[in-house]
Amino acid sequence: MPERRKIFFFYKQEEFLENKVKNLQLLAEQSNFQIVTDFHQANIIVSVGGDGTFLQAVQKTGFKEDCLYAGVSTETTSSFYCDFHVDETEKMVEAMTNEQIEVRRYPTIQVTVDGKSTFHCLNECTIRSAIIKTFAIDVYIDGLHFETFRGDGMIVSTPTGSTAYNKSVRGAVVDPMLPCFQVSELASINNNNYRTLGSPFILDGTRKLTLKVVQDGNDYPTIGIDNEALSIRHVEKLDIELTNQRIKTVKLKDNSFWEKVKRNFL
Ligand code: NAP
Ligand code: MN
Repeated sequence: MPERRKIFFFYKQEEFLENKVKNLQLLAEQSNFQIVTDFHQANIIVSVGGDGTFLQAVQKTGFKEDCLYAGVSTETTSSFYCDFHVDETEKMVEAMTNEQIEVRRYPTIQVTVDGKSTFHCLNECTIRSAIIKTFAIDVYIDGLHFETFRGDGMIVSTPTGSTAYNKSVRGAVVDPMLPCFQVSELASINNNNYRTLGSPFILDGTRKLTLKVVQDGNDYPTIGIDNEALSIRHVEKLDIELTNQRIKTVKLKDNSFWEKVKRNFL
């Protein structure tokens, strides 16, 4: 593995965090790391905050494939993408100085809006009615018209995103070793006129999912890319697929995906 020595810290500019981050930076410098203020120059990106901050760190730095991401939690509750707690300095130094660190790779999905703009997601892409009225989506799998959905919206999640929004709507928790993505529904109407599968389904990573928003007036949905809403208003079509681009994170001892799931939820 090439030497990774340049660290960029990503955090919300809050007074309480400034001090914590200063301590971390000192620690890094003592371990012969260089702090950079431009993420383009970094080969390690450290987010300080919660899972939400980690998602932002990955989004704002453009899903850098030549970087190792690490999440440092400032909260007392355990979080999903954060392998370190801000006060566990020993653990961080050990990880930083250990040459044989394992790297974990998380699959991501890519969303193309109306064949033009492309976005990446680490957790999920959501499409929801922006008004108090249902909207309709024609769902295609590899060009096959699969179902017509009417309801509040849909969630398309990555394996790591399966423990987030997807889990709240009774989607399955998916092992991130599987290159796949999951589609779950938000309050679908099922009657003699509208019929959807009704259960979440998981697509192989080679499939292509297309969501066509039925142009019936309610075609200005809210589209979420991880924890950000797109500013695009009118939408006709989303093309969603798994990418080869993976997010690399430090894999610590006794901290496999399923250990995290157990720790967070059981
Ligand atoms: P938020 O509303 O502040 O966070 C929702 C919670 O989800 C937080 O506790 C967050 O952890 C946690 N979380 C985020 N990604 C996770 C993951 N992959 N596995 C397990 N837990 C995860 O929003 P946010 O912190 O900015 O995070 C955005 C995410 O929230 C979205 O990507 C979506 O998945 C999720 N969300 C869930 C629901 C729902 O379950 N009903 C609704 C909207 C959004 P931290 O506190 O450590 O950040
Ligand atoms: Mn949060």
